[in-house]
Amino acid sequence: MTAPTSQRGKRVLLAAPRGVCAGVDRAIQTVELALERYGSPLYVRHEIVHNQHVIKALEKKGAIFVNETDEVPDGHTVIFSAHGVAPVVHAEAARRNLTVIDATCPLVTKVHKEAVRYAKEDFDILLIGHEGHEEVIGTSGEAPDHITLVDGPDDVKNVEVRDPDKVVWLSQTTLSVDETMETVGALKGRFPNLLSPPSDDICYASQNRQVAVKQMGADADLVIVVGSKNSSNSVRLVEVALGAGAGAAHLVDGAEEIDESWLQGVSTVGLTSGASVPKVLVHGVLDWLAQRGYEDVETVKAAEESITFSLPKELRRDLRAEPAAPKSLP
Ligand code: SF4
Repeated sequence: MTAPTSQRGKRVLLAAPRGVCAGVDRAIQTVELALERYGSPLYVRHEIVHNQHVIKALEKKGAIFVNETDEVPDGHTVIFSAHGVAPVVHAEAARRNLTVIDATCPLVTKVHKEAVRYAKEDFDILLIGHEGHEEVIGTSGEAPDHITLVDGPDDVKNVEVRDPDKVVWLSQTTLSVDETMETVGALKGRFPNLLSPPSDDICYASQNRQVAVKQMGADADLVIVVGSKNSSNSVRLVEVALGAGAGAAHLVDGAEEIDESWLQGVSTVGLTSGASVPKVLVHGVLDWLAQRGYEDVETVKAAEESITFSLPKELRRDLRAEPAAPKSLP
């Protein structure tokens, strides 16, 4: 029988895996190596990954983040973020003679390719995802005439298709697995012949981080998720923790955002981080907790991860080539 909260010692359950995934690691490395290779100014369209700490560190090194390619001067280099872009963005960059380094995560590219294939076969594609998220905008742009966004189970009743026997669902890579399956179930209720994608669209990193949080959730009085508010997979971890039975769950960018009052009556703190969060931020939270008596740290391991992705081909080519000629001084 589990001891009442008041009789248990203070401890931390540390989720594994947590933090930076292969796609984010590749995207950050892409900006860092491009800065070394080409120097500043180096433009990055949108936040390369959704983490404020990472963005600020890259800005300090010389990266310039812009919202749209029209903010990049003609002929300069621009990096596209891990979330992917629509073909019109590539076309606009080509028209402006920009040099593009595409840091789209290969697992997002996979969903883009599925969208293109099903659109060619004239399917109606139901894309499960969050309206306005960059990844969803990029994927939808591959086949705007064939894709309908489905933003969760409540949105299913609004979906209209041309032929209910020629419909396929795809999804954003960073969704909650359980909620997505609920949406798919509701879609199948309306379209019994709904086709599923050939393999999971929700990526390995999102899935593994959710499984680890589920394992610790019921035992935690409080779960702290380190991640930024605009990070979809981090927000999902808070929802999954609460769904698994955690007493409370909060998203913080770092230790400085933790409210001391959250610890009242708490003996077990669960700790995890989203797929765009550097280790140093979790270490900061562990230190903060240790200073308040939560020194006992136990790892809750859900999976091993060994996936890595090679750098974008444009960058690999230039890194193999001669160093860039120094820029002439004005
Ligand atoms: Fe790629 Fe998944 Fe990481 Fe997104 S969260 S960058 S899809 S591995």
